[in-house]
Amino acid sequence: MYRLTIHELHDRLKRKEVSSQEVTEVLLKRIAEIDPKIKAYLTVAQQEAIRGAQEADRMIATGRISPLTGIPLAIKDNMCTRGIKTTCASKILENFVPPFDATVVNRIKAEGGVILGKLNMDEFAMGSSTENSRFTITRNPWNLQVIPGGSSGGSAAAVAADECIASLGSDTGGSIRQPAACCGVVGMKPTYGRVSRYGLVAFASSLDQIGPLTKDVEDCAILLNAIAGYDPLDSTSADTPTPDYRRGLVKDVKGWVLGVPKEFFVEGMDPEVEERVWDGIRVLQELGAVIKEISLPHTGYAIATYYIICTAEASSNLARYDGVKYGFRAQDPRDLMEMYLETRSQGFGPEVKRRIMLGTYALSSGYYDAYYKKASQVRTLIKGNFEEAFRECDVIITPTSPTPAFRIGEKVQDPLQMYLSDIFTISVNLAGVPAISVPCGFSSDGLPIGVQIIGRPFEEERIIQVAYTFEQNTDHHKRKPPLPPH
Ligand code: GLN
Repeated sequence: MYRLTIHELHDRLKRKEVSSQEVTEVLLKRIAEIDPKIKAYLTVAQQEAIRGAQEADRMIATGRISPLTGIPLAIKDNMCTRGIKTTCASKILENFVPPFDATVVNRIKAEGGVILGKLNMDEFAMGSSTENSRFTITRNPWNLQVIPGGSSGGSAAAVAADECIASLGSDTGGSIRQPAACCGVVGMKPTYGRVSRYGLVAFASSLDQIGPLTKDVEDCAILLNAIAGYDPLDSTSADTPTPDYRRGLVKDVKGWVLGVPKEFFVEGMDPEVEERVWDGIRVLQELGAVIKEISLPHTGYAIATYYIICTAEASSNLARYDGVKYGFRAQDPRDLMEMYLETRSQGFGPEVKRRIMLGTYALSSGYYDAYYKKASQVRTLIKGNFEEAFRECDVIITPTSPTPAFRIGEKVQDPLQMYLSDIFTISVNLAGVPAISVPCGFSSDGLPIGVQIIGRPFEEERIIQVAYTFEQNTDHHKRKPPLPPH
């Protein structure tokens, strides 16, 4: 039963073949059996989950059932959950229990969705492998010696290992799509402003976006329906109407123009990734899509631009963790200054400190123009590249990540190599456009590979349609990792 998708489980709940409490118990058992190997969860909210399921069963009994009612889901640990720890996988928030729910969590609960617990991540979402978590290393269900991607590694691994029906992640530079590709699941970063970030712990506010990680494209549309839309509590949320994203669940790409950016197929890419992505493009071509080479000429500047903007914004956002208001405080300081220094030195891990230092430097007086301002200007050019490209094509297709998931420990000593994992996803965040990653095959070692489909702002429906057409004409999403059933 834990293998079901949202829509399959919904049908069974609706026909009353199973209760939410029964499925929730099955999933809690699955977590107890599998998670000691995978380590996707930081917190399993057993009691809250059972209570939520009972509430959902009452809703169903009175005939009130919406697509998420009674469905067990899990949330990345940087979204606030009332009464359940929200740590950002950081020592500095180790014991933080929020007094409120993030808007996305609120919306899921309002529909009767069941929250199973909180998922591991890179500390403050900084990383591409989940190895920067201060608490534990999450393993890829397809190979336990391999990373699950990051920073939403727990969110992707939990879905792939059937430890939840679907999950939420956050994506600042690729953190939903890259782990989705690494774990063979579907992951979407919606348009900037489409999903409220109220209650998402901020990393880089001009880039952060929440989105779904799911077993198939239909589930992605369903979960997006639940979380998308205007929220007065988030001043960056877009006050534009939200369609029913299930309208994109149409198997048809005839005549659609798919842009393939020449700058994305460059040296250094794993040849198997390149082959699988081209296989995928050909599938769509055979279904009637028109393939067109396009150019995104400023792609080469994306990583540098991103690492100035995201570190600058992070240094400012993370200034609030000072040991005074909430969270961890260093023991026995001599004075206030030592309390600040020790709290932050002990509370943050090395990658977070690196970024705070880089970002503080980029924003310091005399350097602001040379770094942050310059990066913002290049960002405008990158955004302009997408606008121009979308005059010639309906969607853009690229690999999600340049390599399949790598081995645990392989890149921890080399931050630059780690940063390059996001070379294909970062410009999408800089431009603010939506993109989805769907499974498009496997490497010879049996590791999943993902293809990325990028759309115009607020055209999530279209990328869902291309992704759905692709998925329904292939069977990569049906393969399951070699984990024991129970
Ligand atoms: N890997 C990128 C980083 O380390 C992206 C992270 C993210 O999207 N949250 O910043």
